Formats: sequence, C-alpha cells, structure tokens
Amino acid sequence: MSRQNFIDTLDAYANDGKEVQLWLRDDDAIEPTAELSKLLDLSKRWDAPLTIAAIPAHTTAALAKLMEELRLISVAVHGWDHVNHAPALEKKQELGLHRGEDVVLGLLAEGLERIKTLFGDRAVPLLVPPWNRIAQPLLDRLPALGYEALSVFGPERADAPVRLVNTHVDIIDWKGTRGGRPMDVLYAEAAVRLEAGTTHATNLGVLTHHLVHDDAAWEFLDDFFAVTARHPACRWVAVRELMGSR
Ligand SMILES: [Zn+2]
Repeated sequence: MSRQNFIDTLDAYANDGKEVQLWLRDDDAIEPTAELSKLLDLSKRWDAPLTIAAIPAHTTAALAKLMEELRLISVAVHGWDHVNHAPALEKKQELGLHRGEDVVLGLLAEGLERIKTLFGDRAVPLLVPPWNRIAQPLLDRLPALGYEALSVFGPERADAPVRLVNTHVDIIDWKGTRGGRPMDVLYAEAAVRLEAGTTHATNLGVLTHHLVHDDAAWEFLDDFFAVTARHPACRWVAVRELMGSR
C-alpha cells in the first residue's frame, strides 16, 4: 500500500541520515474563513510552518490582522488579481503575454509591494503564478522586481533563470471530482518524489486550496501531518529556508 511505502521510504531516509524538508503552499486566500482557520489550526497543532499564497488585489486587512499572531505562517504573492487573460481555447493564465510584458510586470511589482505592506515581515518575495503558469520571458525580469524565487507545480526545471521552490503533490482532483484525491495516490506521488531525491536533503511541497477542501482533502492532511510531523527524517521548514535566504 502506498501509504506504507511512503513511510518505508521515510524510514530509509532516516537510516541513511537523509532529510525531507516539507513545505505546504495553500493558494487563493483573500480573507479569514472557517476553512482557512481549519488549515491554520494544522500549523498550530503540529508546530509546522505553512505558506499562504494570497491574491494581492483582493486581500483584506482582516487577513493581515489574522496573520499577525501566527508566527509560523509566511505569505507569498499569488499573481495580482487571479483573472484569466488567455483566449478561451488556451489554458487559463493571468501571467501570460496577452497584455504585454510591461503591464504584467507592473502589476507583479504592485502585488509584492501590497503583500509586504499588509503582512510586514511575514511576507516572502516568492511569486506563485495563478494556475501555476507564467510566460517564460517574464522570468528573467522577476529579480529586478524584488522577487527572490518562483513557485509552480512539478519537478524543478534545472534551466530556470530564477530560483524555484515548487510544489509536487496537489491534493485536489481538478479535472474530476474537484475534491480531495485518493490518499493512496497522493502518498504514491510523494514517495516518487522522495525516491528521486539524490541529495542529502530533498524538499517535498504539498499544494492545497482551503476553499475547496472536502472531507477527503482534510483527512489526507490530518494523516499526512500525523505521519510526517514527528518522523525523524522529516522537517517542516519555513519557505524562506528553501528560498535560500534568512
Ligand atoms: Zn490560485
């Protein structure tokens, strides 16, 4: 069973003195909700840092207020307003070239500024493109805007011109039920990521969307924290650590 296989892989990591650096990115926050509180409670319960990717144009002061007391939470920049500008037949994209580079770059600069203003030292200069998509020509320009890293979905590309801190396991079945994917499938994907890890420390990013979590999604998260939080091979890290700063 995949869950057991994942645990066996963690045990092998521990035996080899290797480490799994775990992080969780939750997308689309704009305001406090019961679902967001449920997610943030996992951080408290397991003493685990989490990263919230907030939509700058719509993020409320109430969300900033909520984060003030939560020292383990980092806030990343989720595009500007999460509006699709791709034509109907293309995959959804906010950060494409449909409006021209300068328009998009201007909004990305404004987005980082707004997240910093709202969240202070909890803000991280990490860009999380809506739908995990950004036009390649924009990547070179991100450092000049103040972004230190980019987070999309899937294995990190070696030739990316910016530092990548990706997510690798998406708990939602977007094309099917739009609820949580089966636990065994998720553990199998997590194990694949670890089995491919050749270095001393491998990072594993879990992608969540608190606004659409059903019971299956929450059950997986409860179980995943129970499996990893106290395992000797695992360390839940603040995303800054993976960004290579502070
Ligand atoms: Zn999103």
